Amino acid sequence: MVKLKRKSLECQYLINLKFIPELRRIEKNGDGNLQVGPLATLTSLARSPLIHEGFEILARAALGVGNLQIQNLATIGGNLCNASPSADLPPALIALGARLSLASIRGQREVKVEEFFSRTI
Ligand SMILES: Cc1cc2nc3c(=O)[nH]c(=O)nc-3n(C[C@H](O)[C@H](O)[C@H](O)COP(=O)(O)OP(=O)(O)OC[C@H]3O[C@@H](n4cnc5c(N)ncnc54)[C@H](O)[C@@H]3O)c2cc1C
Repeated sequence: MVKLKRKSLECQYLINLKFIPELRRIEKNGDGNLQVGPLATLTSLARSPLIHEGFEILARAALGVGNLQIQNLATIGGNLCNASPSADLPPALIALGARLSLASIRGQREVKVEEFFSRTI
C-alpha cells in the first residue's frame, strides 16, 4: 500500500490473499519443527503458544515491527518478500535456521532464508 501511494508500484488489479485460512496456520510437525504459513500475521506469531516453545526470538522480532496496527496486518511472507534490508524477521529466521518453501506453477523448492534474498546493484 505504501508503494502504491508513493506510485513506485503500479498495478491494474490488486488481489487480497490474506484470508486463506490454510496459509495462516502456525503448527508443529511430527519432528517438532515449526511450520508457519506465509499469511500468518506478526500478531499471531507473537501470541502463538507454539512460538513461545523454543522460537521466542521470532515473537520478539514480530513485536519489534512498526506498531500494533502494522503487526495486525503484516504477514511473515510479506515481511520476507518486501525484502527490506532492515526488516526485523529475517535475522531471527536465519538465527533459527529456517527454511522457506517456495511454490509456483512450475513447482516447489526449499531454500534457506539467507539464500532467499537476491542482491541487485
Ligand atoms: C509504518 C510502517 C512501519 C514499518 N516498520 C517496520 C519495522 O519496524 N520492521 C520491519 O521489518 N518492517 C517494517 N515495516 C514493513 C512491514 O513489515 C512490511 O511492510 C510488512 O511486513 C509487509 O507485510 P504484508 O503482509 O503487509 O506484505 P505486503 O505489503 O502485502 O506485501 C509486500 C510484498 O511482498 C509480496 N508478498 C507478500 N506476501 C507474499 C507471499 N506469500 N508470496 C509472494 N509474495 C508475497 C507482495 O506482493 C508485495 O510485493 C513497516 C511498514 C510500515 C508501513
